[in-house]
Amino acid sequence: MPRKILVTSALPYANGSIHLGHLVEYIQTDIWVRFQKMQGHEVHYVCADDTHGTPIMLRAEKEGITPEQLIDRVWHEHKADFDGFHVEFDHYGSTNGAETREYAQAIYRKLKAAGLIEVRSIEQFYDPVKNMFLPDRFIKGECPKCHAKDQYGDNCEACGTTYAPTELINPYSAVSGAQPERRNSDHYFFKLSADTCQKFLREWTRSGTLQPEATNKMQEWLGGEGGNKLSDWDISRDAPYFGFEIPDAPGKYFYVWLDAPVGYMGSFQQLCNAKGIEFDAYWKQGSDAELYHFIGKDILYFHALFWPAMLQHAGFRTPTKLFAHGFLTVNGEKMSKSRGTFITADSYLKQGLNPEYLRYYYAAKLNGTMEDIDLNLEDFVAKVNSDLIGKYINIASRCAGFISKRFDGKLASTHEDKLISKQLQMDSGFYRLDAFQVDRIADAYEQRDFSKALREIMAFADKANQFVDQHKPWMMAKETGREEELHQVCTLALNTFRWLTILLKPALPELARNVENFLNVPQFTWEDVHTYLPAGHRINEYKHLMTRVDQKQIDAMIEANKQTLVPPPSPVRHAEAQQHVPSGGTTSHSTKPASGQVAGYPLKGEGATVGAIAPIISIDEFSKIDLRVAKIVNAEHVEGAEKLLKLTLDIGEEKPRTVFAGIKSVYDPEKLKGRMTVMVANLAPRKMKFGLSEGMVLAASGAVPGLFILSPDDGAQPGMRIK
Ligand SMILES: [Zn+2]
Repeated sequence: MPRKILVTSALPYANGSIHLGHLVEYIQTDIWVRFQKMQGHEVHYVCADDTHGTPIMLRAEKEGITPEQLIDRVWHEHKADFDGFHVEFDHYGSTNGAETREYAQAIYRKLKAAGLIEVRSIEQFYDPVKNMFLPDRFIKGECPKCHAKDQYGDNCEACGTTYAPTELINPYSAVSGAQPERRNSDHYFFKLSADTCQKFLREWTRSGTLQPEATNKMQEWLGGEGGNKLSDWDISRDAPYFGFEIPDAPGKYFYVWLDAPVGYMGSFQQLCNAKGIEFDAYWKQGSDAELYHFIGKDILYFHALFWPAMLQHAGFRTPTKLFAHGFLTVNGEKMSKSRGTFITADSYLKQGLNPEYLRYYYAAKLNGTMEDIDLNLEDFVAKVNSDLIGKYINIASRCAGFISKRFDGKLASTHEDKLISKQLQMDSGFYRLDAFQVDRIADAYEQRDFSKALREIMAFADKANQFVDQHKPWMMAKETGREEELHQVCTLALNTFRWLTILLKPALPELARNVENFLNVPQFTWEDVHTYLPAGHRINEYKHLMTRVDQKQIDAMIEANKQTLVPPPSPVRHAEAQQHVPSGGTTSHSTKPASGQVAGYPLKGEGATVGAIAPIISIDEFSKIDLRVAKIVNAEHVEGAEKLLKLTLDIGEEKPRTVFAGIKSVYDPEKLKGRMTVMVANLAPRKMKFGLSEGMVLAASGAVPGLFILSPDDGAQPGMRIK
């Protein structure tokens, strides 16, 4: 039975360029959607530009154009970037459309009728020159703690403190420079604190709709049974605002985050209109269709709390599952404009880099969890060249030419009885994909564990290369009387190449299309992996399918991104979430992009100064320090010690070591037990008030709060030396 599946990716904000951080999500979703389509399911993949809010309004004003002109231009830029990376939406819309407006208003009316909307007067900063209320992002002033100047209204970049904008010393409007006044205004709240919302969300977030780590996070925000930690959500903004007006509330607009997820419905409605799909079959309460939202972990609050509560109380179905992913780092660090690793989609494509390199690399890293993924550029070059060119493409490039030149492009029979030698008969069985392998790969795709799927596929590619290496068609071609054998070996090899292509097609759709042309076959479906091409089938001449990635292109791309001195602002609206839930956002109503990361993208302060580097030492001096991998076999509080935890560390010695570490403020001892870390094993023992400390564990710290102990990669054993 084909499944009915509706899939969305988060809506990018129409305020800046798509970059490689965003693409993690769109590529991940696209691979999953393509896999499902290959299975024969009825799948619709929709997305849209998210177009409302103060940042859009002000940016358009700055550019001297209307918001509509701005969002139209950005829509085309975004669409071109997605097309460039073969992200194939069934519909890519805009939240600034009649469909989204209607659903937003309908949902609002239902919530109101259910008694879940409340109006309250709140006080906030008002710019008397610009005649507008100011979101936190647009208020600046002196940090109340460290007195750094020109800090944003929500947190200090210099010392990391968070605060309310009203706590800033000498606040000023970042829009006009004027001193803001405090004014009252009526705001509309969605009563998330109501029992019905709390009860529903408590159940919903534990019902298997979320990944386990997300479930835990939500329980924290929701509080225990009867805890009621969730505050009401301010869903209105005052004019002037670019957005949808709230029904029967002149001068009041829906906060952009209210209509953003409604954009999923609006975009899908547009697809329904074009294709004659029945909207209600996917969205009505009780629908048997599946609904999946792919999102970054930074916008879980909206998708796991506000959004399902809205849907549930407005008569719509709630998502089947949310698939949250982690952030992207480049070379192990946050994307950075100064290092040139804040790479836009456009700049990648402009270097002539094949988008499928990146699709493959991301797929090889994605495992369906919320873990961050790293784009290590050296590893990227090595992996693409070794896997895609060295293993996969290599099979076709070594065998296809013989078929064209010697056999008029026609394939031999692969029927066992027709094979010329016992060895080939055995090999045709051995080098075939078995059904279990195919199922394992399909299952890994379904679970979004693409890294596992690709590992299995590459293991099969290794096997296929062994086959070619053993039979050496290039040798056969030089010997007379081996024509038939050559024909059969090349045919078998091309069949393995075909299977590999089918399995890789969700990740490499364009390459697969070229292979379909080369093999002269219709579009691959998943089932094709169980068949051979028939004897006598004529293939087309082999042309280069993919070239090696050249390190020089990567270097040029980094250089190009460094030269962008004033990069366009990043789509950042999604991060506005964070203040609302944990801090109890009843009086919070900014449109600020939060500090820190938005799906892994540093917004400000990247490349900030780090402490000065210590004087140079020689390798000999360094090697005096004996660093070992240590397993924390026990961790406990120390009575009377404010900062210390007592750690018992196994480094492969007969007796474990005791080390007192000043990490009590940041680590729960229970959570440390069993994990691996790094210790200095030859530090002179130190007698402390609480006992003898026989070494030291290493931890990182810096300008931002927190202490971070180290972990070796998986597989490291206690006692291994680190050098
Ligand atoms: Zn400060």
